[in-house]
Amino acid sequence: MNTTAQSILNTVYGYPTFRGHQSAVIDHLVTGGDALLLMPTGGGKSLCYQIPALLREGTGIIVSPLIALMQDQVGAVNQLGLKAAYLNSTLTQREAYAVESQLLDGTLDLLYIAPERLLQPRTLELLDKATIALFAIDEAHCVSQWGHDFRPEYLQLSVLAERYPGIPRLACTATADERTRAEILTNLRLQDGQVFIGGFDRPNIQYRVVPKDEPRKQLLKFLRDEHIGDAGIVYCLARKKTEETAAFLSQHGFPAVPYHAGLDAATRRRHQERFLNEDGLIVCATIAFGMGIDKPDVRFVAHLDLPKSVEGYYQETGRAGRDGLPANAWLCYGLQDVVMLRKLIDSPSSDGVEVDEMHRRRSSQQLDTMLGYCEVTACRRQRLLAHFGETLATPCGNCDTCLWPPETFDATVVAQKALSCVARTGQRFGAQHIIEVLRGGAAERVLRLGHDRLSTYGIGADVDAFGWRSIIRQLVAHGLLALDPEGYGGLRLTSAAGPVLRGEQVLKLRRDILTPRAAGGAGAAGRKKAKRAANVLAAAASAAPDADFEPDAATTALFDRLRTLRKRLASEAGVPPYVIFHDKTLALMAQMRPTSEAALLGISGVGQAKLERYGEAFIAEIRAEESGVGEGVE
Ligand code: ADP
Ligand code: ZN
Repeated sequence: MNTTAQSILNTVYGYPTFRGHQSAVIDHLVTGGDALLLMPTGGGKSLCYQIPALLREGTGIIVSPLIALMQDQVGAVNQLGLKAAYLNSTLTQREAYAVESQLLDGTLDLLYIAPERLLQPRTLELLDKATIALFAIDEAHCVSQWGHDFRPEYLQLSVLAERYPGIPRLACTATADERTRAEILTNLRLQDGQVFIGGFDRPNIQYRVVPKDEPRKQLLKFLRDEHIGDAGIVYCLARKKTEETAAFLSQHGFPAVPYHAGLDAATRRRHQERFLNEDGLIVCATIAFGMGIDKPDVRFVAHLDLPKSVEGYYQETGRAGRDGLPANAWLCYGLQDVVMLRKLIDSPSSDGVEVDEMHRRRSSQQLDTMLGYCEVTACRRQRLLAHFGETLATPCGNCDTCLWPPETFDATVVAQKALSCVARTGQRFGAQHIIEVLRGGAAERVLRLGHDRLSTYGIGADVDAFGWRSIIRQLVAHGLLALDPEGYGGLRLTSAAGPVLRGEQVLKLRRDILTPRAAGGAGAAGRKKAKRAANVLAAAASAAPDADFEPDAATTALFDRLRTLRKRLASEAGVPPYVIFHDKTLALMAQMRPTSEAALLGISGVGQAKLERYGEAFIAEIRAEESGVGEGVE
């Protein structure tokens, strides 16, 4: 048979059709063109270089900064029946030699290389002698100094353009605003390449932002209501907090482990492996965790602290729901976060080097954009996509502002009270003190400073502390109040405050409500678990996962049995369960009950190599269920 991209998609991957730009990118590379591919996480970028690497003569070289994940990536590709290997500093010299000779013999389909390894003269000389199908530069935003993952060695990858002019190059990334995009093109010398921009929308992710009150309690409630037994990531700003949060969650019945750059490599590796291999583990992490994690069934990403930029937020939340099934992005934020981040931006860096002014301004701008996103009262997804230059014509219906439209109110008078109170107390106190004065509290400091004699003392007693925190936070986010640069949280007026104080401008603010109005609430854990299986099954059947969908008991039972079988096969093969088959594929099997090889091949996600390896076992399981044999046996 004449091998085409389509036939590889069907036989190797077991998928019926290409998505989005995949087919166009593949054709472009096969015919020798260069390209930049922007596609959201889970969009299917890897196929875009894997398939052309198979179609062209020679080995596809994939440059990736994610050394810790290379082994898993190679493992997953090998499961598809392809020949892949990696070169990085974790290999012994002997192992590296073996890989190098495979490359020279032309027996490798794909070779993953870390950038610092690739740039060594010795490796470049090796590549000179090999037949190379293409170069794929993964996580290409690392080349941008504007982005948040800048890696200096990525800049030197421009050498590939000079040294291998005839070999197609593909740069891939999930994150890129226009500035990052432009930097990738220049820094990697891809100006003549074609740019493919896949939609940035991740419709299955539900975006939510809640005002911070008692963050841990709020997180726990969110998990209890919606994520019992689910895998997820909780991002925190500080290392210590990741450890405390993991301990707290574990104590409350949600198994969790910490992950941050201060843990030794072995512990990090162990925690990452547990996350990939176990069902329903939570990782509490700093942003050191997650890039390139391709676990498809991460059901939620929670932020306990405000991310520094919308790019970072989009990237981190993008790790949820790669399998296309419903997932949550939940962010909890308060004024204290803003104080913290402003302090980080304005203080000289820890090694005492003056922070360069340009960088400082950028960071500050990025924080303002992030705040704007948090405080938005229209569709959150529209705002997010607009940031990436994309227009969503109608409100999404799957974010908090769409689902539970926030109530806004005329806040002109309360804002005047808060602003005057800041002015009267001398523009140097933080929110807590201002609120104490507004509410007429008797805190020692208020009395000592004589702030109980100010005209603004007690003028806001009718609003509770939570309400005032919400108002002041929004005044900061809207730029009417500014935080002191020393990082103590002191508030002062900006020029924008004038018109509101003088009553020349009406100010509308959102009314924050503490208790989430989210789904669930009632049902017991068991019911929620059943609901989750229903969601998976409904989504697999490509019915919208609506509240009424109830798979029959037999289908749910078979789905569970297939998952148990998958778990066993995965541990035998030493790979994570999803590398064998995705939940979606198992759900389709549970519904269609294929009992022949031909029927099994018809299921999306079953390719030739996996059929040969696992077909028999899955068919046997389905048959056993049909005839009621082996009920309850592992
Ligand atoms: P990315 O690298 O863009 O984050 P991946 O390449 O890992 O995404 O793809 C995400 C998931 O989608 C993978 O499990 C992949 O096998 C699957 N996938 C990719 N292309 C298709 C397709 N055309 N049809 C069905 N599933 C696909
Ligand atoms: Zn929306």
